[in-house]
Amino acid sequence: MGTCVVETIAHAPIGIFGGTFDPIHFGHLRLAEELAESLALETVRFMPTGCPPHRKPPHTDAAHRLAMVQRATQNNPRFEVDTREIAQQGISYTVETLHALRQELGSRRPICLLLGADAFLGLPHWHHWEELFDLAHIAVAHRPGFPQVAWQNAMPESLRGVLSSRQSTVTALQHAPAGNLVTLAITALDISATHIRDTLQAGRNPRYLLPDTVLDYIYAHQLYLSPHIENTSKL
Ligand code: ATP
Repeated sequence: MGTCVVETIAHAPIGIFGGTFDPIHFGHLRLAEELAESLALETVRFMPTGCPPHRKPPHTDAAHRLAMVQRATQNNPRFEVDTREIAQQGISYTVETLHALRQELGSRRPICLLLGADAFLGLPHWHHWEELFDLAHIAVAHRPGFPQVAWQNAMPESLRGVLSSRQSTVTALQHAPAGNLVTLAITALDISATHIRDTLQAGRNPRYLLPDTVLDYIYAHQLYLSPHIENTSKL
């Protein structure tokens, strides 16, 4: 019995939660909190992306986005911030990040990539996406606007295949290092970074959509107050 407990703790899953976090808000934090509870994650590592390959460049410098993630997560002992992608020059591919994490954490530790349902729909556009399942599990949280039926209808054929072959239970996920997919309902918070940026730009106050510490940081550094001019030289 004692050995069994030690074994379970030694291999508690680690959650990886990537995003541009431009800025981080309560939708992100609630997803991390609820999936951490449902999957009994030891930690959730928030991993702000540097230069994401499958979307437009972020509106704010990496250093600011990282500072906001640090402020938003600092009082939760289960939350950590992983700076490897943001510190990297150029494009960071999730599959490469997971290879590096596997090296660090060993072959037995369950690693679980946390995704919102909309992000999951874009998975087939990710670099070597099918290889992700050799390295990690994927936990998909349903967010507002993506109810199950509409979500499944919007799903490309390749993802339907993955859903039917890999969908499993939380228990199965906790007892294998990689390869399973779980979908979990979370509290619907209809908050997006886009809406927060638009609110700020319109001169309105987005308080109560994101932590006060993050909002204070935004005002102190005058972020998102003027229209975004895309830096195409980075493309
Ligand atoms: P933007 O509006 O700039 O596109 P965003 O608010 O969607 O940003 P991202 O940093 O792109 O935030 O998202 C990171 C992850 O968080 C993705 O997996 C996304 O699906 C998820 N996510 C974002 N907002 C929510 C929300 N309100 N509820 C649940 N998941 C969310």
